Amino acid sequence: MSSRKNLKIDHIGIAVNSIDQALEFYRDVLGVEPSDRFLAEREQIEAALLPLGESRLELLESSSEDSVIARFIDKRGEGLHHVAIRVPDLEVAIKRICTAGIHLVTDEIQTSPGGYRYIFVHPRSVTGVLLELVEYPEDSKVEVID
Ligand code: ZN
Repeated sequence: MSSRKNLKIDHIGIAVNSIDQALEFYRDVLGVEPSDRFLAEREQIEAALLPLGESRLELLESSSEDSVIARFIDKRGEGLHHVAIRVPDLEVAIKRICTAGIHLVTDEIQTSPGGYRYIFVHPRSVTGVLLELVEYPEDSKVEVID
């Protein structure tokens, strides 16, 4: 986060009732092939990744009745769930966020099946959008020069 030039949209998470049904649009109509599809057991969701240039859409389907995605869809229906920003150093980003008095959803950094580390910033703290900050292992080893 020491250089804003290094921030990118990593992915956009979309809550869907059914990945298969959503693919009838994204794959069959738009022509975007999923690059990966996996079950995140801890979060009780199934995810499909649709690469779009440097970023991706992340389709999120609940695999249980009381997952975060199930509760989201119950309340608001399908739609935009979160925006993920790739940062060069997650610890630095978290420190800045906490110093600014902004709340995280949980304090614990987690690791995705794809190998990146992530944390969620509370939507009430930042313009109503659930924000995910992600850091890739290859980024954290790179010296960032402002
Ligand atoms: Zn995400």
